[in-house]
Amino acid sequence: MTESTEPLIRITGVSKLFGDFVAVDNVDLEIGHSELFSILGGSGCGKSTLLRMLAGFEAPTAGKIEIEGIDVTRQPPYERPVNMMFQSYAIFPHMDVKKNVGYGLRKDGLTAKETAKRVDEMLELVQLTDFRDRKPNQLSGGQSQRVALARALIKRPKVLLLDEPLAALDKKLREHTQFELVNIQDELGITFVVVTHDQEEAMTLSDRIAVMEKGRFLQVGQPKEIYEYPQSRFVADFIGTINTFEGTVTSVTNEHLVVHSDELGGELRALGHHDVEVGQAVCIAVRPEKIFVSREEPENEDDMRACGTVEDLGYLGNLSLYRVRLASGKIVQVSSQNRHRTTERGVEWEDEIWISWRPRSAVVLVD
Ligand code: ATP
Repeated sequence: MTESTEPLIRITGVSKLFGDFVAVDNVDLEIGHSELFSILGGSGCGKSTLLRMLAGFEAPTAGKIEIEGIDVTRQPPYERPVNMMFQSYAIFPHMDVKKNVGYGLRKDGLTAKETAKRVDEMLELVQLTDFRDRKPNQLSGGQSQRVALARALIKRPKVLLLDEPLAALDKKLREHTQFELVNIQDELGITFVVVTHDQEEAMTLSDRIAVMEKGRFLQVGQPKEIYEYPQSRFVADFIGTINTFEGTVTSVTNEHLVVHSDELGGELRALGHHDVEVGQAVCIAVRPEKIFVSREEPENEDDMRACGTVEDLGYLGNLSLYRVRLASGKIVQVSSQNRHRTTERGVEWEDEIWISWRPRSAVVLVD
């Protein structure tokens, strides 16, 4: 087995039932060496249960978990090459930072000298060297989070499991800490599996994301792939903002399909091959940043278009956000980069304008 071809973690057909309730439903997943993988979903979707099964705190009702090709499904947590960082940072209040970080090593019988060396290295990595003698109650939320991270990493697990690692931090610190986590993971090359309900966090941190709902994975892929090519309405809606137009397929060719949508007030085209039939109900989804606004009708005949009234607009410096009401009553959200300082009159409230987009910007959703 070589590192490059074999996954580090392989989950096959794993389910977890609590009585009749299916918390995790027949999940298959492979996670690679040095990958930063996020499991993203709303409250109660089963993400923590899946993480706890990886850690060994919960036994699957069915299925198999392998790490480096070894079946660990029935192994207790301490026998697995895995460590977990919990939501509430499990750090001892009576120990200073260096004792907290070195705790696991001393328990394993390492000498005081070796422990001190490893603790120093770890404190440097998480930038806590100057805080080594402080007690936990003398630390900020972000510093406590880094102590917990150092404690979880010091025994050099192959996999670190992180359950909502940044949930206790305020927004600004969370954004900063996201980058620190990525840097630390990158430096150590340890596989991180992160559970989060925060889509922005998952997008920023991850090499790949699994979007989970009702115990199942709806889509697994790189952040860009999931954002640009969501495969279902749930995923499209869950990740960022998206406009959806309900309609019926009126024609299908190898290159594109045409959909009639009352919401848009006309026909829509989407490029690419789609496994749909004439007469089928589908949804065409377009991200706000793929839509252009203009006072004049767009010249490019291929562009999808509709006329509407600006109901709301917000100026965010680099971006303008528009809410445009179409004749059908449908509200379309548009975000547009403000690239130039302009002296000519821009689009304003109550203006009648055109919205348009390229057919290739639209995604076709059937579920
Ligand atoms: P959250 O973000 O709210 O923590 P989650 O996606 O992590 O949600 P889980 O903790 O995995 O959700 O729980 C999934 C489902 O399983 C929930 O409906 C929960 O109530 C249920 N559940 C979890 N643990 C148990 C248990 N020990 N007994 C019964 N039901 C449980």
